[in-house]
Amino acid sequence: MSHSNDKIMVGRSEVSPPRISRFFGRTLFVNLGSAEEKCCTWHCVYCPKELEGEAGAGEINKKLPHGDAERLEAGADAKQVIAAIRAGVAGGAELDSIVFTSTTEPTNHPMFAEIVSMTRDLRLTLGASWLLQSIGPGTQLDEKKALEAYRLLDRFWVKLDCAIGELFESTLKPTHGETLQGYVAKLRSLGPLYIRVTLWRDLANKALQSWTPENLEKLLALLVSLNPRLVHVSTLKNIAPTSNLRPVGDEDLDTFAMRLHEAGLDAEAFA
Ligand code: SF4
Repeated sequence: MSHSNDKIMVGRSEVSPPRISRFFGRTLFVNLGSAEEKCCTWHCVYCPKELEGEAGAGEINKKLPHGDAERLEAGADAKQVIAAIRAGVAGGAELDSIVFTSTTEPTNHPMFAEIVSMTRDLRLTLGASWLLQSIGPGTQLDEKKALEAYRLLDRFWVKLDCAIGELFESTLKPTHGETLQGYVAKLRSLGPLYIRVTLWRDLANKALQSWTPENLEKLLALLVSLNPRLVHVSTLKNIAPTSNLRPVGDEDLDTFAMRLHEAGLDAEAFA
């Protein structure tokens, strides 16, 4: 275990000091992959790593399910991750959340389920009340261990930006040829859902933006049919002016969240 810029490093994993997140309140972020690399089953057009030209090693996800040897090797790291989380939550104001996320899908860590389970135990030991959350495309949630982690978390935020098959495939670019239909079927099998919707515009090619009347209408209908517990609607942040991608305006985000409310869903907009 080592320290770098206030972060606690454990192998390739990082535990960041608590900070205020616009989505989750005071949050300790845990990255179970390398901050330098991207290892995700999707290649979203707005992904920071994609925009930096680092498409990443999505192929590595083909290794799921992880073998016994790989899990054994990752076991020592898992204990150190918990020690780093314990150090990260010690002292200071009460946390609202611990969130497992990064440009590496947390489910790609061979011991993700065990790490979540041990973090739950730590919460119990400390008498804390933080929510245990994670974010990911959800592609791997049909694998036994990934699903185990999903069930142990308070909230696993799955992404759903597009409700048109062609748009889903051309902008989120799932590595393993996943279709919108297959993805939605997977979501329906998961039980209570927490869904994160990212909306964006593309100045050069409107066929590659989620902010279109047709997509919004279909997304609304799809979200209603999925009946999630909560929807977070957000847009892009810190996009370089040289990029064709642009955020959606605050009022537009609020309007879409309001439409979800009117349709009976609990939704929050984050500009
Ligand atoms: S799901 Fe997240 S990490 Fe993966 S490509 Fe999309 S934005 Fe990047």
